[in-house]
Amino acid sequence: MTLMLKNYARDQWFEAGSGLSDIISAVDGSVVARTGTDGLDFAAMLHHARDVGSANLRKMTIHERANMVKGLAGAIMERKEELYALSTATGATRGDSWIDIEGGAGTLFTMSSKARRELPDDVILTDGDFEPIGRKGTFIGQHVYTSLQGAAVHINAFNFPVWGMLEKLGPTLIGGVAAIVKPATQGAQLAEACVRIMIESGLLPEGALQLIVGNVGDLFDHLTCQDVVSFTGSAATAAKLKNHPVVMRESVRFVAEQDSLNASILGPDSGPGTEEFDLFVKEVAREMTTKAGQKCTAIRRTLVPAAFLDDVQEAIKARLAKVVVGDPAAEGVTMGALASLRQLHDVRDKAREIATEAQLVFGDIDTVEPLGAEAAKGAFISPLLFRLDDPWSAKVVHDVEAFGPVSTLMPYKDVEDAIALANRGMGSLALSVFTYDPAIARRFILGAAAFHGRIVLIDRDCARESTGHGSPLPMLIHGGPGRAGGGEEMGGVRGIKHYMQRSALQGSPRTLSAIVNKWLPGAPQPSGAVHPFRMTFGELEIGYTLFTAPRTITLEDIEHFAHFTGDTFYAHMDEEAAAANPFFPGRVAHGYLILSFAAGLFVDPAPGPVLANYGLENLRFLKPAPAGTAIKVALTVKSKAMRKPGEYGEVKWAVTVTDQDGEVVATYDLLTMNAV
Ligand code: NAP
Repeated sequence: MTLMLKNYARDQWFEAGSGLSDIISAVDGSVVARTGTDGLDFAAMLHHARDVGSANLRKMTIHERANMVKGLAGAIMERKEELYALSTATGATRGDSWIDIEGGAGTLFTMSSKARRELPDDVILTDGDFEPIGRKGTFIGQHVYTSLQGAAVHINAFNFPVWGMLEKLGPTLIGGVAAIVKPATQGAQLAEACVRIMIESGLLPEGALQLIVGNVGDLFDHLTCQDVVSFTGSAATAAKLKNHPVVMRESVRFVAEQDSLNASILGPDSGPGTEEFDLFVKEVAREMTTKAGQKCTAIRRTLVPAAFLDDVQEAIKARLAKVVVGDPAAEGVTMGALASLRQLHDVRDKAREIATEAQLVFGDIDTVEPLGAEAAKGAFISPLLFRLDDPWSAKVVHDVEAFGPVSTLMPYKDVEDAIALANRGMGSLALSVFTYDPAIARRFILGAAAFHGRIVLIDRDCARESTGHGSPLPMLIHGGPGRAGGGEEMGGVRGIKHYMQRSALQGSPRTLSAIVNKWLPGAPQPSGAVHPFRMTFGELEIGYTLFTAPRTITLEDIEHFAHFTGDTFYAHMDEEAAAANPFFPGRVAHGYLILSFAAGLFVDPAPGPVLANYGLENLRFLKPAPAGTAIKVALTVKSKAMRKPGEYGEVKWAVTVTDQDGEVVATYDLLTMNAV
């Protein structure tokens, strides 16, 4: 049955009546779906995203948006089999589809949970600490992020129709920006089905998500400075879109993930017989064949110490010989088809280019016998391993990305040579190094990190838990410099900030505190008759302060504390030795004694809304406190974050301990969990 794909524009499903193109099965050449965008009003879609979708999302807090994204992931997991059913025709095996579908949902889950744990339940984010500017502290600076007020246009590659969409969508929605998603036409049936699941979940506010299945018409003509384009695909398309006159004129933010000639390096210490050697061989073969090598991060260049080249070649060949190419639905098939016949021609052309420099040592560019399918009808190709003995004389292998199960084996002379060869990719997404020698690993980082977005160091200690060379993870950045596009996606909450604007604020502590919902030094510290420990999470106001009575530290206190805890360090016990130390006037109180006394001063002991003290942050002892010092404490509500709605939230308290002269002895942030 041929599916008719629909666009989702301005909260309506829309089927184009003309200008349709066919989506062909990668396995048997049948028409799987028809799609087109004739009749879509692209300018109106952008307006809808900005004026309705993004406006709705900005009414929600970051935690509300993150919870929504978690709900979307749950909805996809509930209906995942619908997606698996569509995935086979893209040439993907069940394992490949797992990366795409469940990997995609997993990315949403992780993004959601990181946002709720690491970002405030607010709509403004602070970036770093406040900056003191005026001498008297009445004029300060603070960097903040607020959501862009435009639309996010996502243009995705064909290889992971679900994951490729969701890894961009999670951060975008949490960032408060509505998305217009344009999947690659090949595989769009999967993206369309996934969008349908998300829309039908009823979790998204109006306008938050739209879908274009086909060409984007005049969309780019209507972009503004508030919009973001996130692109994954070829360098040629990226260059075309980046140089669109409107993108240039409006300085439209453009995040690009494009071609990459990733390398994997066997360390000079990792010869045959070592665990790292076996791990390397396994990983190269796996990366070549997973998703038939159509991974932006796959290993295209395999760099090996010259002395081990023959051994590596034989070992990889032995593994590749076990690969069964065929219909991904057929029993026993371990590698499916490329995504389309167009891809097949492209990979064959590029393999022939590589063959002008390198020798093909495994596979056949033109023939393969797929299991359970007809070779002539599907986009099948065998794994192709090339060998190039003089990598410095070559150009094509460092420049041409054959987006399929293709890798070239090359020798290197020493670590510096390997680094220089890896860097000839001129900017890559991923590099892996297999070594058990941390000193060698560090040399690779110093030499190659500047050219790579992510570097995986694999050895016997981490191999079992390693996620491998080619898997981008939601908590780590995905992207790379130069040829790889210069973009950065995901990376935990970093990815969310691509959809927000950073602004530097300057003003009084009172004003800036109120804006960022966080007490900043110099802002008012109102106090009242009620002890803050008697107030619930909801009742505590930012800035509310308890000023305690003083307590004088005596020599007996210091002695008692020393013997009680066992901390008889000379600075507390030996007057002469302490005085000889440049930091102390003589014996001084323990820092921990000061903390303990501070708690004794500010705590209100009866059971109440404070459930637990779970830590201190940013602790500094600024002035020594010899016996006779009278300390007192200001305990100020600095910020609040709901942790379990209806139950408890985290309160961060700014604690300042001062002496009888008003000078600061210690400062820290105290964290408590408070009942709502
Ligand atoms: P492509 O031709 O550049 O297509 C990528 C996307 O751009 C598709 O959605 C395509 O839509 C769209 N597109 C093409 N021309 C456009 C235009 N004029 N205006 C708006 N959109 C346009 O790339 P591909 O050949 O499909 O993908 C393979 C490449 O992607 C490889 O080179 C690979 O390295 C790269 N890739 C990179 C990453 C990464 O994360 N860095 C991941 C995967 C793939 P249509 O399909 O409708 O043409």
